[in-house]
Amino acid sequence: MSELVLNSESLNNVLDNREISRENILEIYQNSQKDPNELFTTSQILRKKYKGNIVTFSKKAFFNIVNLCRDSCSYCTYKAEPGEEKLSLMSKQQIIELLDMAKKYRCVEALFVTGEQPEQRYHEAREWLKENGFSSTSEYLIYASEIALEKGLFPHTNAGNLNFDEMKELKKTNVSMGLMLENISERLTENGMPHHLASSKRPKARLEILENSGRLHIPMTTGILVGIGETIEEIIDSLLVIKQLHQKYGNIQEVILQNFQPKEDTRMKNEPSADEKYFKTIVALSRIIMPEMNIQIPPNLSPDSYQSFLSVGINDWGGISPLTPDFVNPEFAWPQISSVDENSKNAGFDLKGRFPIYPEFSSFISKDLQEKMKEIQDEDGLVKEEYWR
Ligand code: SF4
Repeated sequence: MSELVLNSESLNNVLDNREISRENILEIYQNSQKDPNELFTTSQILRKKYKGNIVTFSKKAFFNIVNLCRDSCSYCTYKAEPGEEKLSLMSKQQIIELLDMAKKYRCVEALFVTGEQPEQRYHEAREWLKENGFSSTSEYLIYASEIALEKGLFPHTNAGNLNFDEMKELKKTNVSMGLMLENISERLTENGMPHHLASSKRPKARLEILENSGRLHIPMTTGILVGIGETIEEIIDSLLVIKQLHQKYGNIQEVILQNFQPKEDTRMKNEPSADEKYFKTIVALSRIIMPEMNIQIPPNLSPDSYQSFLSVGINDWGGISPLTPDFVNPEFAWPQISSVDENSKNAGFDLKGRFPIYPEFSSFISKDLQEKMKEIQDEDGLVKEEYWR
């Protein structure tokens, strides 16, 4: 039994390790609108209980391999059209040069990002693949991942809806992979909604990929986008789906909570940013729904207040790059690692560098990959301080 007794029976149940229902979660949310203190206290207790006073991050380089994309999400500024200045079609040589630079900066993670199956829609993407000697984006990613490993970086691929065989192949070199659920709502795919022109974001399609990652025992990062016109029920349902996936396969290593920020060149440019109070409530709800989960917010998307999220339940800052921009949110520079370190310390937490895979998932990857990590790994499975600092 927990010593603390709250007014909310549901939150007392959470503290006593009892399951709570969707209705209970909704009621907790509604009560928090009047007074969020009990919710925040609970999420803070759970965070301390399961994650201590540690907050992690991954020192990474962002490889914008190709940003042509067959889909069009209303909030996306990452996607480029042929001829646009921001178009990225990385050559093998550019990948190798960035890998060398990343190693020099002592990055640990090579984050490989692409648009959704660009070769299906653009002949420019097919040409680019041909010039580099590949017939598909996934073949290119397999190549890039192998080179990254050879150079001492650890690949984490986030390339949209890859199929089972592609993921199986990438698992050989990627210590973890990523695919945001975004949201489980069909409504958000309707005409006029953010995912209407993005078939890869249909909840069924997205879920199938996450299910495949479970079948393949891939340590998987997923998450939700907060503030794109969803209802609180849709947020709760999305978090519950992620929880169920993890209960079924045990492979969800991390949940990213990404707050929406409008981008000038998108259809959603006039929509407001996710409200901070609302976003904090979602963070705390995520912690009480999945008490042991690794929960991340990107610090660059809350530049003035990211450290305040430590006290409502997060335990990770995600990837932070000392040398490449966040191509998904280019107007938000990543903070200096030293200032994240200092701000975390001031809030009472110790910053640690991790691999793209969390230590508790190391048995999911091959002995070969585990062996490669050992060179820069400490006794807790994290990255040695002297390497990343
Ligand atoms: S968010 Fe992803 S799938 Fe949607 S348009 Fe952008 S790159 Fe494509």
